[in-house]
Amino acid sequence: MAIKPTETEPAALLKCLQQRRPAMVETLRQMVELESPSDDKPAVDRLGEFLAEQFATAGGQPKFHRQSERGNHLQVDFPGVNSQRPVMLLGHFDTVWALGTLSKMPWRVAQGRAWGPGSYDMKSGITLMLHALTALRELRGRLARPVTVLLNTDEEVGSHTSRPTIEKLARESAAVLIMEPSAGLKGAVKTARKGVGEYCLKVTGVPAHAGISPQEGASAIRELAHQIVNISEFTDLKRGISVNAGVIEGGTRSNVVAAEASALIDVRIARVRDAAYIDKKLHAVRPVNRKCRLQLTGAINRLPMERTEGVAALYGKACEAAARIHWKLEEASTGGASDGNFTAALGVPTLDGLGGVGEGAHAFNESVIIEELPRRAALIAMLIEAA
Ligand SMILES: [Zn+2]
Repeated sequence: MAIKPTETEPAALLKCLQQRRPAMVETLRQMVELESPSDDKPAVDRLGEFLAEQFATAGGQPKFHRQSERGNHLQVDFPGVNSQRPVMLLGHFDTVWALGTLSKMPWRVAQGRAWGPGSYDMKSGITLMLHALTALRELRGRLARPVTVLLNTDEEVGSHTSRPTIEKLARESAAVLIMEPSAGLKGAVKTARKGVGEYCLKVTGVPAHAGISPQEGASAIRELAHQIVNISEFTDLKRGISVNAGVIEGGTRSNVVAAEASALIDVRIARVRDAAYIDKKLHAVRPVNRKCRLQLTGAINRLPMERTEGVAALYGKACEAAARIHWKLEEASTGGASDGNFTAALGVPTLDGLGGVGEGAHAFNESVIIEELPRRAALIAMLIEAA
């Protein structure tokens, strides 16, 4: 296959990154040992400072988007030789793990894997982008085109404070590469993700003594039970829709007809057009017992990342790049959402799941396969030039 003059020789790139493998493991260790739960701003900011230094050393210009509650989001701009639109590399450095998790789940290297909280989701992804950029610079001096890195701190809690910045930078970019973990142990990239909504259904009933005057009451719990069965039937797996009441709450004592009850409801949709459909259906529910009142709050937060032509074309480029280092790259879809949902919904070609290969996201067996790191970093480097 002919190599365009702006492209770096794939074999040289892979070799350079294979030599960097110990350095990648070291970067990952440093990141994992700087714990960064989404809700602990000082801890997240410590890791942010570390990352700003690392990316500056790699030739970027770091700048923080300061936050009062969440950790500061980190943007790093890399200039390019030509004036093509930038490629955006997107990742998050918050984790779901509370401070102190390291004492039960310490960083370690064993069985060919790196273990520890956040190793897979997604400190390995940030490690890959850092070393991909470093390798490109080592081999070429300057990047062929501009690159915008955005590392946010609130992905695990819905990206509410980073979303405007993500969307602004995505609109300015030719493509967005998401460093979330890959799918399965073969390391497939993700070309489709379901959209997610979170709703709360609150029922207000009429309280009464359960023994003396039950007829005067209207049980919010009984009403909620009806409604949960009702809305669960909106699930249509063929159409990619699922509705799940995952948390329920209500009542005070067993001898009181409950005055209040509520449910937290998770909604997943595979198609953008189903967002309005399911939202309307949820808002149309009416009480079975007229003495009860229903109140629904919430919305679809992340629209689905659909496998559009733009997404498919970007995946095609990734497959071509992978083939140059003798690797048959696979694709997958998932019911989980990421910040890729935001960028894809804007119509910007997005490829997700470019991060580490491993397993155990949000689980005690969280780990990444070390041997996979070099070729994945090489793929990211090649995509920076080809996307
Ligand atoms: Zn993640």
